[in-house]
Amino acid sequence: MKTVKIYDTTLRDGTQAEGISLSLNDKLKIAKRLDQFGIHYIEGGWPGSNPKDMAFFKEVKKLKLKHSKVAAFGSTRRPHTKASEDANIKALLKAQTDVITAFGKSWNLHVTDVFKTSLKENLEMIFDTVKYIKTRRKEVIFDAEHFFDGYLADSKYAIEAIKAAISAKCDLVCLCDTNGGMLPSQMRDIIKRVGQEVSVPLGIHCHNDSDLAVSNSIVAVEEGCVHVQGTINGIGERCGNANLVSIIPLLNLKMGLRAVSSSKLKELTEMSRYVYEICNLPIDHAKPFVGKSAFAHKGGVHVNAMMKNPETYEHIKANLVGNKTRFLVSELSGKTNILLKAQELDINLDKETPETKKVLFKIQDLENQGYQFEAAEASFELLLKKALGQYRSFFEICCFSTCVEKREDGKVLTGATVKVKVKDKVELTAGEGDGPVNALDNAFRKALSKFYPVINKIHLVDYKVRVIDSDAGTAAKVRVFVQFRDDKDDWTTVGVSENIIEASWNALVEAIEYKLLKG
Ligand SMILES: [Zn+2]
Repeated sequence: MKTVKIYDTTLRDGTQAEGISLSLNDKLKIAKRLDQFGIHYIEGGWPGSNPKDMAFFKEVKKLKLKHSKVAAFGSTRRPHTKASEDANIKALLKAQTDVITAFGKSWNLHVTDVFKTSLKENLEMIFDTVKYIKTRRKEVIFDAEHFFDGYLADSKYAIEAIKAAISAKCDLVCLCDTNGGMLPSQMRDIIKRVGQEVSVPLGIHCHNDSDLAVSNSIVAVEEGCVHVQGTINGIGERCGNANLVSIIPLLNLKMGLRAVSSSKLKELTEMSRYVYEICNLPIDHAKPFVGKSAFAHKGGVHVNAMMKNPETYEHIKANLVGNKTRFLVSELSGKTNILLKAQELDINLDKETPETKKVLFKIQDLENQGYQFEAAEASFELLLKKALGQYRSFFEICCFSTCVEKREDGKVLTGATVKVKVKDKVELTAGEGDGPVNALDNAFRKALSKFYPVINKIHLVDYKVRVIDSDAGTAAKVRVFVQFRDDKDDWTTVGVSENIIEASWNALVEAIEYKLLKG
């Protein structure tokens, strides 16, 4: 099976995304994970641009990566200098990587307006740089920056630029859609023509400014590119880079090519989420292949059909990429979904028994009151277990109170007290917080943690309030979702009330009950 080499630039192009800042330790963690996953090349950074990147190249050697080659990235030499004397090129070599990716200009506009040098000098800059690095026995990738825009402006010059790198014996030319503006049809046409002019292996580097980075990368492979550059989850400058998390399964599952092994492909979902976490980004549930919603079914017709044959509404089997099929609980989809959801949670519900009918009725009733279980699967699981007698009580709530005081000096103080009974012991605790819900959460967990220390390991990660019946103004009902996490799991519960504190409290209590039940 033909292999397409995957070149990851999450640690270089990816870190240029707005709102992303990776520490040295973060970068090393991601590199380790990419190596485990079987990525062929990891671009670690631009050693000439900052000391953190230089430190990365030093530290990454200690990880003794098994699969990936590490690449350092940098520019061609400056105009009218020697490559051997160029500070950036010295830094590139100092990084001591097996691979060096040198980028150069192939768009005449950039040569004259940015470098402010002659077209001829730029060709020499490319040639000299590649040739000099090659003398150090490195694998050299030449990134032809803005190649496609350059080709459209002056195709002859764009080709001359890559030929300069080829005559200096670069190992691969990577064609870049740096501005992300190309259409797949243009991509196909230009790569076809380039393939007729040169015989060096070609790679592709796409940006997502037209939401076409994945499509364009796939077209490039169809036209013979053997190397694809991109980032995990598509993070990158402006609208991001080509998303490798989509490209890899497309190559493997739909094009008969091999980007990673099929067993590694099963780690795709986990790897994507890991990188989201390290980058401190919220996980995008709608991402193809790996999103939580990628194989989630809600409409009644869909769910019915899925039960007869899973191929009816899924383009691939979810487990091939480590994801799973989910059935969402909703009034839209009725009984079948609820039964399937229960099955997914290993709870056996027989359609005809009185308990099942009771559960179905209860869910309908709660949904009418404004509850929604799609985003609160922990509440749903608790509800089923309680209805079926599979729940044991861990505590009893006697009472709680909270008060908010704004003092004359402008300070706002918030406190709460909670009284709970565990077995025969009554515990009364007080807590403070940034608001009444936070104060209640603190007081409640303080009371329970004496009996259940596991509670100290969980923390609140998200809190959302939605007004349900907005016509009623401040007397309207609110729906509150709280999300908790520990080192193994995360779970969401829901509470509904006309009183925001009570709705939050109900969701909080269920979140704790859920954790205690899971152990
Ligand atoms: Zn780029």
